[in-house]
Amino acid sequence: MSKKAVALISGGLDSVLAARVVMEQGFTITGLYFSSAFSKSFGNEEATPAARVAKSIGIELRVLDMGQEYIDVIRNPKHGYGRHINPCIDCKIFMLTKAKEIMNELEAPFIVTGEVLGQRPMSQRRDTLHLIERDAGLKGMVLRPLSAKHLPPTKAEEEGIVDGEKLLDISGRSRNVQLHLAGQYGITGFSAPAGGCLLTEEHFAERLRDLFTHNPSVTPADIRLLTLGRHFRLESGEKVVLGRDNRENNTIISLEGPGFHLFLPHDFPGPVAIMTAKPSDVEKHTVGRLMLKYSKELPGKARSIRYGPKIFAPEERAEEQASRPIKVGSGA
Ligand code: SF4
Repeated sequence: MSKKAVALISGGLDSVLAARVVMEQGFTITGLYFSSAFSKSFGNEEATPAARVAKSIGIELRVLDMGQEYIDVIRNPKHGYGRHINPCIDCKIFMLTKAKEIMNELEAPFIVTGEVLGQRPMSQRRDTLHLIERDAGLKGMVLRPLSAKHLPPTKAEEEGIVDGEKLLDISGRSRNVQLHLAGQYGITGFSAPAGGCLLTEEHFAERLRDLFTHNPSVTPADIRLLTLGRHFRLESGEKVVLGRDNRENNTIISLEGPGFHLFLPHDFPGPVAIMTAKPSDVEKHTVGRLMLKYSKELPGKARSIRYGPKIFAPEERAEEQASRPIKVGSGA
């Protein structure tokens, strides 16, 4: 039997520790890191905590982009959301379903995860651990080395491929045992628990709910836009986003493309703006006025805006007075 196993590596301590515990029994681990537009490190996968911890225990790390399919899972989770807009049960089922393909490709007998019984109220209860592996089509094939002694034996333990006696009996929310073992194994570079997932953050959840309400087809670029800038809804339902600093302005400029329409300050230092649909004439002036509002006044100097090849000076119009843009998200 193959001494290979696949391990989900999130970048947090528990998952890398679980992989390291299995390595003690002579297994070669292939780590899988699932990247999505909801990761704080999206677009910078080489420098993620997952890459750091994989290096610290000397395993190969494959990065899998969860893409559009994952956005659909977030939008309609079969098992509901956690505290914010994090559908942890569906998310884990999704990741394990993808991991199963790699497990089969490598002819590995099981998948390792870092779940700890009772650590999280939603996804790490005994019944949900069972549900997750059942719905992923992996009954008896998900090894949770950190809590294995509290759980029914996996097939690998029953068949003697893995020595269950050498696995651990951690449960609950305390992280003292894990931190002690991290020191013992020399594991460094891990992130805070769930620290890399935007779906667990209130401010992001507010913006994402708004996006799902207004937009029937959400793309990774739409999600990326949620992570930066000041957000406004116009009366037409379209979104305008303004950069708050140079870094955000540059990222917004990089997002220009189909479905995204860019506005630049023409002759003054100020925010770049992007709109999620082709603006009407009135909307152009509304966006321009927002840009002026969030930039410094220049005494004696009129400020103008570039939209495509055209330059215009924003005006206050009667239609706009009747409908002001609405700010989206408390942090905007
Ligand atoms: S915290 Fe985020 S990445 Fe982790 S299981 Fe929940 S939704 Fe998925």
